Amino acid sequence: MVKQVRLGKTDLFVNPIGLGTNAVGGHNIYPNLNEETGKNVVRAALENGINFLDTAFIYGPERSEILIGEVIKEKGNREEIIIATKGAHKFVDGKIIFDNSPTFLKNEVDLSLKRLQTDYIDLFYIHFPDEHTPKDEAVGALKELKDQGKIRAIGVSNFSINQLKEANKDGYVDVLQSEYNLFKREAEKELLPYTANHHISFVPYFPLAAGLLGGKYTKDTQFNDGRAKNPLFQGEAFIRNLEKVEEIRQIAQSKDTEVAHVVLAWYLTRDSIDALIPGAKQPDQVTRNLRTLNVQLSKEEIEKIDHIFQE
Ligand code: NAP
Repeated sequence: MVKQVRLGKTDLFVNPIGLGTNAVGGHNIYPNLNEETGKNVVRAALENGINFLDTAFIYGPERSEILIGEVIKEKGNREEIIIATKGAHKFVDGKIIFDNSPTFLKNEVDLSLKRLQTDYIDLFYIHFPDEHTPKDEAVGALKELKDQGKIRAIGVSNFSINQLKEANKDGYVDVLQSEYNLFKREAEKELLPYTANHHISFVPYFPLAAGLLGGKYTKDTQFNDGRAKNPLFQGEAFIRNLEKVEEIRQIAQSKDTEVAHVVLAWYLTRDSIDALIPGAKQPDQVTRNLRTLNVQLSKEEIEKIDHIFQE
């Protein structure tokens, strides 16, 4: 039985290994996704003790929430699952803008509830900041929904440190989701210290750097999605990054585990990172990533990994 961890100051308890689901019905993110495979990814998670699912309106759009809702209905164990979803994207004349206004966010929560076939959302994030809405007002709208029981916890995502401070003026922010991985460590400057000091859980997205920290790519691997343009995957930088991954492989091999699991275990040693949401495209990736929970890193190994990725 996995020891569950508490997210920040909430009453949400999760397996530290959750599941990111932008590849579950996320047709606008990855081409040629099979929805049944996506549902099998979610089933594999729920059948193996993962109870923390991370989705968003924009994954699909809508399809990820809908497929997750279907699987949870089929399993019949809604109360055992912590669903996190996000809203802020608005389609205007075919273009996407962000909206954090109280009216918009309240309506988005209602729509997410319908798609997920549930009457409460455990954690609702403002997915991206807009330029206009004061962030404490946006969070105030979510506090009202929390008081009404429509959501259980309040999250913000992709907020700068100043936006986070404004959002958390009244102490209502429970979780911050931001990009953070061994290649992208800007969050260490201000965001991670802030979340650690304010009892906010920090959930890193792209923990595997979109697969680069999974340890299975070579210099010849070709990508036909967003990774084809991602700077981490270009030319000399890609070669250098693969060399760093090889150094992690040595640690992984000494522990008879995979690169991905050493990387994920390293994040869990950071202050305020309580749980992770690695993405998966196949059910076996989900079950394999649970092996992270068996990885113990020594102080020396933690420092060595830190050092390999310092630039
Ligand atoms: P990620 O977790 O960094 O990488 C996931 C990819 O790594 C998988 O799709 C798979 O890709 C590969 N992988 C998974 N397990 C592996 C293993 N054991 N060994 C080797 N490779 C493995 O990227 P992500 O899925 O984009 O991000 C995680 C989650 O964060 C998303 O699902 C989403 O829920 C959330 N997110 C949030 C935001 C935001 O704005 N808040 C933005 C992005 C993502 P391949 O099979 O192709 O190798």
